[in-house]
Amino acid sequence: MTKANKAKAHFGEIPRQNPCAQCGTPIPEPDWIEPGEGRISYLWNCRACNYRFEAVAIFEREAFEHPPLAA
Ligand SMILES: [Zn+2]
Repeated sequence: MTKANKAKAHFGEIPRQNPCAQCGTPIPEPDWIEPGEGRISYLWNCRACNYRFEAVAIFEREAFEHPPLAA
C-alpha cells in the first residue's frame, strides 16, 4: 500500500477522524455504514454539535482497472 493510493477507498476500509461538516470537530468513526452498489454511505454523527451528515465513497472500478490515459 503506497501513499499515492491513499485517496482511493477500498471495501473494508473505514474512514476515521472525519471533520464535522458544521463545526469541524474530528469524528472518530462513522455512526452507520451502508454498503451499496459501487459505493458505501457513511453516516457521521458529531458528538460536539449533534450535526449529522452523510458521506458517500464511490468506487470507480473501471478507472481502477483501466486507468485513463494521461493527457
Ligand atoms: Zn459538529
